[in-house]
Amino acid sequence: MLTIEEALKIIKDQQVTLTTENRSLRECLGFSLSEDIISSFDMPSFDNSAMDGYALCGISKEYQIIGEVAAGDERQLTLKEGEAARIFTGAKIPENTTAVMMQEKARASGKKLFLEQEPKKGQSIRQKGEELKKGQVVFEKGYTITPAGIGMIGSLGNDKVEVFKKPVINLITTGNELVKPGNPRPEGHIYESNSYALVAACENYGFICEDKKQIEDDFEAIKTGIKNSLETAEVLVLSGGISVGDYDFVKQALEENGVEEQFYKVFQKPGKPLYFGRKGDKFVFALPGNPASSLSCFYIYVLPLLYKLSGSEKSGLAQYTFPISHNYENKSDRPSFLKAKVNNGKVEILDGQGSSMIQSMALGNALVFLDGESSAKKGELVQCFLIS
Ligand code: AMP
Ligand code: MG
Repeated sequence: MLTIEEALKIIKDQQVTLTTENRSLRECLGFSLSEDIISSFDMPSFDNSAMDGYALCGISKEYQIIGEVAAGDERQLTLKEGEAARIFTGAKIPENTTAVMMQEKARASGKKLFLEQEPKKGQSIRQKGEELKKGQVVFEKGYTITPAGIGMIGSLGNDKVEVFKKPVINLITTGNELVKPGNPRPEGHIYESNSYALVAACENYGFICEDKKQIEDDFEAIKTGIKNSLETAEVLVLSGGISVGDYDFVKQALEENGVEEQFYKVFQKPGKPLYFGRKGDKFVFALPGNPASSLSCFYIYVLPLLYKLSGSEKSGLAQYTFPISHNYENKSDRPSFLKAKVNNGKVEILDGQGSSMIQSMALGNALVFLDGESSAKKGELVQCFLIS
């Protein structure tokens, strides 16, 4: 059986074809740049005031006020020694300005200006180019656009950006026992919840699941469902039916659809019967149906591929080490991803580690990775994958 590292390497090493598109500022959040963004001018592009106050020429405590510049004024005022101009935040600095004094530290009386203290040269002036120089690389290709990134790109005057397209994702859940929430639940049935959790997990990381289907444990139906989904999906995620039970038809249905297995089964808990396959440029994950297994596998395995297919510099969940807040003995023989909560710089492994148990995952915010049969002593640093 594959180790976790081997399985992740197979995903990471997939050759993928990326395509690009031009998106508006309004619609580029979470997309990754397909080219560097270069500043086409100095930022700021002109010396301007960091304060509401007075632009001063020379170092003194008394000045003669000769005019005013507001933000957006185009004309260039020129000061002589001993002169001051009323100025506002963001306004263009008059020629020969030594410093700007904030208005709280100045008193004007008619045309006379009196300061509490002498200004320091350059004080409260935002210098042309102090943030960025013309021609400078602001963001490199692969940068994933954040709200601040959108602000930066807009401040450079760009209303559009070239980004990598994100993959089209489809989802198929399988199982005779599954009932859609909101409907009566016959004996022996459970509510189908994985599709909701997985669609939401996609959305949480900026991906959209375009289509989801629920299919019975029927070989032909699953085979047809996979065939149809593969017509549009670039990433097909299945949940359930990938284990070794008599009604687990997914693997064979994938094979008969020409999907080539890249790996099947990983030595881990939860999520041992994880399957990853590929057909041309299309990728397929079949996740075990247990709710915690399917989500855990999504975070650890599917997310890295989604990032890769969207040209992102990110390779998966953020990883940190935190000291564990209590002793913990890992009873599993397999390396484990344990539902945990990071709080106040420490991590607690939660109760309810069963593969079918999702409440602990919902109350937590991390997966702690522990090798099989290893224990962690209170205060020991453990590897944490943060879930948002
Ligand atoms: P399977 O992987 O199909 O053998 O399913 C493993 C367990 O997960 C079974 O107890 C199923 O009832 C449960 N399960 C499978 N699919 C879902 C789903 N979509 N939502 C909730 N539970 C599921
Ligand atoms: Mg099943």
